[in-house]
Amino acid sequence: MAVKRQISMVLDLNKCIGCQTCTSACKLMWTNRNGREYMYWNNVETMPGPGYPRDYQKMGGGFDEEGALKLSRQPTLEDYGIPWEYNYDDALMAGTDPWLRPNVKPTWGPNWNEDEGEGEYPNSYYFYLPRLCNHCANPACLAACSRNAIYKRQEDGIVLVDQERCRGYRYCVNACPYKKVYFNEEISKSEKCIFCYPRIEKGLATACARQCVGRIRWIGYRDDEEGPIHTLVEKYKVALPLHPEWGTQPNVFYVPPSSPSKFGPNGEELDEPRVPLKYLESLFGSGVKDALETVRRERQAKREGRESELMDTLIGFKHAEMFKLS
Ligand code: SF4
Ligand code: SF4
Repeated sequence: MAVKRQISMVLDLNKCIGCQTCTSACKLMWTNRNGREYMYWNNVETMPGPGYPRDYQKMGGGFDEEGALKLSRQPTLEDYGIPWEYNYDDALMAGTDPWLRPNVKPTWGPNWNEDEGEGEYPNSYYFYLPRLCNHCANPACLAACSRNAIYKRQEDGIVLVDQERCRGYRYCVNACPYKKVYFNEEISKSEKCIFCYPRIEKGLATACARQCVGRIRWIGYRDDEEGPIHTLVEKYKVALPLHPEWGTQPNVFYVPPSSPSKFGPNGEELDEPRVPLKYLESLFGSGVKDALETVRRERQAKREGRESELMDTLIGFKHAEMFKLS
């Protein structure tokens, strides 16, 4: 879908520490009230793992090879995790309950499987995957909406739900394979990440990127050949979309995690990465091997005191320089 400009984000998974500061920033700003309590427009999940909502990668959606929409099932509230409160008043104020406890018995929630990952010690592994709406070039949510309520802004390609037009049919919730559109039962309308457009319009980075403790996020426009997005996505090809096979053409890209070597039975280092390449390729496609090799080569160059534009970009010496918003 052609737009005049497309805003984009790159996230370096080597730098994410899973602190959830981005999640908190987004939630406080947009989703802690008015029927959005269960929503996480930005979430950070442990991989390998079921993700959020639970097992969303198995739900379907997106497009098939002929470009036809693949509808899928809608996640249940249990798949998202029913938000719970704590007995703060009884435990902390009145003192009528000696224990601070949830007001329901939780059975699932975002990050239920945090830090579990896969494999056996000493070859166990996991990494963090922050996720938000990809503001796709070919949005399945938009294609599925029979009310034409979802649109891409011409000036920056941000995908928005027109709240006046939305009737809450939820075709978008089904169609998005990333499950990044949510249904607000209080107002019977769909809602999603708005890429903090009121901030973008003032030249400010999104809340998730601005607050990111690990400085893992860059924001810029795809057509800016001097900007970090072009450097990471087009020039060095080290940033890749999540599940490109789903056909929505995401505008959020990830530098895949580098991995230490596996250990053999006698503690010797094997010539095999601990995070299996096949697993990373199942997430980020066939460009993973080259991306990892490029980062390894440039890191080595920097270690040896040689110049590396790529490593200077990835380090992000000054946070403000990671955002190029004009
Ligand atoms: Fe739509 Fe989902 Fe793409 Fe966001 S990630 S633009 S909600 S299809
Ligand atoms: Fe990762 Fe940054 Fe979010 Fe922390 S704030 S979880 S480092 S993306």
